[in-house]
Amino acid sequence: MAEDTVFGKIVRGEIPARIVYQDEEVTAFHDIAPVAPTHLLIVPNKPIRTLNDATPEDGALLGKLLLTARRLAHELGVAEQGYRLVLNCNPDGGQSVYHLHVHLLAGRKMTWPPG
Ligand code: AMP
Repeated sequence: MAEDTVFGKIVRGEIPARIVYQDEEVTAFHDIAPVAPTHLLIVPNKPIRTLNDATPEDGALLGKLLLTARRLAHELGVAEQGYRLVLNCNPDGGQSVYHLHVHLLAGRKMTWPPG
């Protein structure tokens, strides 16, 4: 089991967040320090520490994170113009919260390659 993080507390409703979607498997909420006009985080309710810690049994859950991002992009009206999904892993990947999450970024033109 991964250690508890701020995202675990958000999933359990112990600290406030601007939650846009939650079911028994995933939670999506606005990033507290957005880097794009739309910046959501989509997390599994179960605390997987990093993508390295995911197992084959987590396959459906990982797929659900992407499908949730896809649906939210449509609901927010950014799907046609476009968006970027980011999953940071460990220090060199830029991960700062050790509860696996997908960033949904939209509302501006993204640069490539990322910094
Ligand atoms: P990462 O660097 O990929 O681990 O991303 C962690 C993200 O979590 C950052 O974009 C932070 O701004 C965001 N974050 C940290 N604490 C909170 C919080 N309490 N509520 C919402 N987003 C947060």
